Amino acid sequence: MKSLRTIALKEAQTRISPEVKSPSTKISEFFGVNVFDKRKMKDFLSKEVYEKLVSAIDQGELINHDDANQIATAMKSWAMGKGATHYTHWFQPLTGTTAEKHDSFFEPSSDGAIEKFAGSALVQQEPDASSFPNGGIRNTFEARGYTAWDPSSPAFIMESKAGKTLCIPTVFVSYTGEALDYKAPLLKALAAMDKAAVDVCQYFDKSITKVNASLGIEQEYFLVDLALYNARPDLVMTGRALFGHMSAKGQQLEDHYFGSIPERVFTYMVDFENEALKLGIPLKTRHNEVAPMQFECAPIYEEINLAIDHNQLLMDLMEKVALRHNFKVLLHEKPYAGINGSGKHNNWSLITDTGKNLLAPGKTPKNNLMFLAFFVNTVKAVHEHADLLRASIASVSNDHRLGANEAPPAIISIFLGQQLNEVLDEIEHSRISKKIKEDNALWLGIPKIPQILLDNTDRNRTSPFAFTGNKFELRAVGSTANSSAPMTVLNAIVADQLTKFKIEVDKLIKKGEKKDIALLTVIKKYIKESKDIRFEGNGYSQEWADEAERRGLKNIKTTPVALDAYVSEKSTELFGKTNIFNKRELHARHEILLENYYKKLQIEARVMGEVTNSMIIPAAIAYQNTLIENAKGLKDLGIDGAALEAPIAIIKKLSEHLGIVKTSIDAMLEERKKTNAIEDSREKAIGYDENVKSYFDTIRYHTDKLEQIVDDSVWPLPKFRELLFVK
Ligand code: ADP
Ligand code: MG
Repeated sequence: MKSLRTIALKEAQTRISPEVKSPSTKISEFFGVNVFDKRKMKDFLSKEVYEKLVSAIDQGELINHDDANQIATAMKSWAMGKGATHYTHWFQPLTGTTAEKHDSFFEPSSDGAIEKFAGSALVQQEPDASSFPNGGIRNTFEARGYTAWDPSSPAFIMESKAGKTLCIPTVFVSYTGEALDYKAPLLKALAAMDKAAVDVCQYFDKSITKVNASLGIEQEYFLVDLALYNARPDLVMTGRALFGHMSAKGQQLEDHYFGSIPERVFTYMVDFENEALKLGIPLKTRHNEVAPMQFECAPIYEEINLAIDHNQLLMDLMEKVALRHNFKVLLHEKPYAGINGSGKHNNWSLITDTGKNLLAPGKTPKNNLMFLAFFVNTVKAVHEHADLLRASIASVSNDHRLGANEAPPAIISIFLGQQLNEVLDEIEHSRISKKIKEDNALWLGIPKIPQILLDNTDRNRTSPFAFTGNKFELRAVGSTANSSAPMTVLNAIVADQLTKFKIEVDKLIKKGEKKDIALLTVIKKYIKESKDIRFEGNGYSQEWADEAERRGLKNIKTTPVALDAYVSEKSTELFGKTNIFNKRELHARHEILLENYYKKLQIEARVMGEVTNSMIIPAAIAYQNTLIENAKGLKDLGIDGAALEAPIAIIKKLSEHLGIVKTSIDAMLEERKKTNAIEDSREKAIGYDENVKSYFDTIRYHTDKLEQIVDDSVWPLPKFRELLFVK
């Protein structure tokens, strides 16, 4: 019988890409055609209701029952006009993927069936969702949860060959009101940010009434042929290769990064980009990444809530469209040991309703005081809550990247670039000049900030949080992550910091200090207090780890410990004050994240056992038996010396590795049993990390040795050279 690997390899080499036709060469002609955006709302709604909906979107105003009915009817007409038969509330539970439960518009009635979509169905749904992760918030007698419409993210139509569905972005909360998803806390954090930022803006510009946090998400991913993927149970079950020796050629020649995109991949990219563009996802950039078969795409930045919905939708689309091309997308942070993993850079800035980016240095020194206020408060916030930011990016899969000398280290620090570093140093050490002269560069003693900063910042790829000219880039986020987690934290800590800033500045003003001097005085104080978080050097170096320790910065390498920061007193206070999470919600979330951590390790350990016992060991033994026959035959023929020693040496090597593999697998199973009996989730997660996961490297080392010895024709798993180079 032919092995699955052989069949898969043959399939992978004879692929023909489906034909992909773009709806038009002008993207503007089909961008957003599947979105119920403002233009379509205007067409389908009365002027009055349209205006109410716009103010619900922009200002968070509530929508009444009658208006909801009119909006639902309009949405239904638009969606049915485009061929939709069903609708669904589309939400982001803590499973990490998106969820949907479809209902048809169809409703039987006394005088024949009709298509109906009531306002109440738009506004709220009760998915029977007791089996979503809830961290103990919902016990069975209050098992109901409900989804509630988020008007700030437009409804859209998901197309598939079999039918079209109207999707309505929603939050997902328990019957008692606690958040069970990623979106609800994010919206609260963004509201807190809006309020705090507008308050601070008032010092500088009274016309600003709204501040939106913006986000541009770069998404890295791997592609692998579908047949090869299906022949690797580890990839199928865990998203990463638990076994596999690195191929002779990896990324060392640096010949893939920004190289020409392989034709088959290019066709796939165009296909998913078209689908994304129709859904209003403003994809702009595509290129090869560093590792073989690794790629990246990025949209133009948008308001955060929308950017994150779009990223979640994009990941979903990428997976769906890949199947048409017989590809599988690997979004995992570290599918292959030995080459780079994938991240999701989060480019973040704050933009006012007057169109000003608060993180862009201004033309005049006076404008720069505003820039400095937001800039320095961000630095200070990260300094105060570095551990919480670390927690927000922690996951079992991201643990493979952080601190592994290819992604930012697990130590949170900020890279500012030389120019801004000098500016902050100068402010810290200068005396605040009380002579206010607007035309003077030394106004108030603020050093000149060049409007266009040298983009030396992007070259420091080793920093987890870097200032890149007019935005901060959080680079430590993992490629599978829902960016809501880190963005909820980042906006919460900066909002809280801005609120504290305002209190301090107001106090000085009340004491009789001039406004600008009061502002600069507090900024100067913050620069001093947050100095330790700034680091310009190589984040991968041991010197930095040592230096960070001297500075008292934490270097938490694993998720179960990193997550502690979610339930610390400091975080509980922060989230309480900003009205984002209450204590119960925080503990539930902590519990869910811990469960997710050990459950994923549990699955990996099981797959490791299964594949080793049922695929790798039998292959090694089969080959060993061939060698034993061979040695016996040689002996029968009276051949000895080097000729006989060769098979015997290989037989012995095989036995050595087989022995270690078998004992390690058995020992790991025992540890798993012990660890499974632990009640407390945190202890269990730590147990999985320290006592179960600790076997992975040994098992892998020896199975990879076997892979290199055993006859290639009997090896059952597609090898790295095939996964990475057959395309
Ligand atoms: P890189 O060199 O890191 O690839 P780019 O300039 O291409 O950086 O930008 C990456 C992402 O950052 C894109 O999604 C882009 O839209 C986004 N971005 C650019 N400016 C801003 C901003 N002011 N706020 C938020 N995101 C931004
Ligand atoms: Mg970037």
